[in-house]
Amino acid sequence: MIVVMKPDATAEQIDHMVGHIRSLGMSPQVLRGTQRTVIAAIGDEREGLVETLEPGEGVEKVLPIMAPYKRASSELTNERTKVEAQGLVVGGVKVAVIAGPCSVENEKQIVSIAKILKDMGATGLRGGAFKPRTSPYSFQGHKEDGLKMLATARDATGLAIVTEVMAPDHVPLVAKYADVLQIGARNMQNYQLLQAVGDSGKATLLKRGMSATIDEFLLAAEYILDRGNPNVMLCERGIRTYEEHTRFTLPLATVPYLHEKSHLPVVVDPSHGTGKARLVAPMAKASVACGADGLIIEVHEDPEHAMSDGSQTITPATFAQLMKECRRVAEAVDRTM
Ligand code: PEP
Ligand code: MN
Repeated sequence: MIVVMKPDATAEQIDHMVGHIRSLGMSPQVLRGTQRTVIAAIGDEREGLVETLEPGEGVEKVLPIMAPYKRASSELTNERTKVEAQGLVVGGVKVAVIAGPCSVENEKQIVSIAKILKDMGATGLRGGAFKPRTSPYSFQGHKEDGLKMLATARDATGLAIVTEVMAPDHVPLVAKYADVLQIGARNMQNYQLLQAVGDSGKATLLKRGMSATIDEFLLAAEYILDRGNPNVMLCERGIRTYEEHTRFTLPLATVPYLHEKSHLPVVVDPSHGTGKARLVAPMAKASVACGADGLIIEVHEDPEHAMSDGSQTITPATFAQLMKECRRVAEAVDRTM
């Protein structure tokens, strides 16, 4: 912890802070500059220390050295965590691809698209059975019936099932059918859900809240990790800005930044991130170029008639072209796909 004193801090105020730091069991080291004095507080940086030191008289600011998220932090390990579920591996040299419709519509639809996507190189099948919709009048998903359809698609293809869980008491039900539990953007700070998913031990795809900072995102991941579940993937899915030309703004700098701050693998969702089908492939390529460990993409055989998110959903033909182009980008950045 670094305590920066104000330029006009008095000798008494500095002495007081030195004593205060010592009384907290830390070792103070005073660095006197020409303009101002800085006190390095060396020792265990526990929770709430900034709040304890910042109100001190003559203190300008207190800067923590350690990240507030301990288990998600790259301070814990330099090695990228690999999350594995039913043949889906996220965090290795190979960029993982999870694809599928926004919603599970019927068994024929999900089994048919699963077979197509598997042939094109996807290892995960996405599809919502519980749908978080902005309007209560929109299609809410087929719920358990949808989960059963996903399980049938897994039986037919071997693809790992990635599907959203919206409520803590639904975790056992969704975990029974899914290989990866998705926590949606709207639930990133639903702490009871994070804990329940943590307790399940299941591989988890945690989506960034549309207004969440990176620190909030990593602290949300911390809730899952803290329950003893290390299988967490972070997913950048776009944030809300003043911009209206896309549904959300997809900030790809998040990928290398998260890689610097955390050992968890990072997935990008260019479908929700842009909201526009024609922008999905270019942003998928950009995601691979900047180091994404995985992509999650909405694909439907007939996007015009999709029950949700049709405008950001690509066809199998576009997906095939996307895969071809992304593989070339992957090679350029020493990855495979
Ligand atoms: C989805 O994946 O279909 C979804 C609802 O995503 P998000 O939570 O990112 O909006
Ligand atoms: Mn969707």
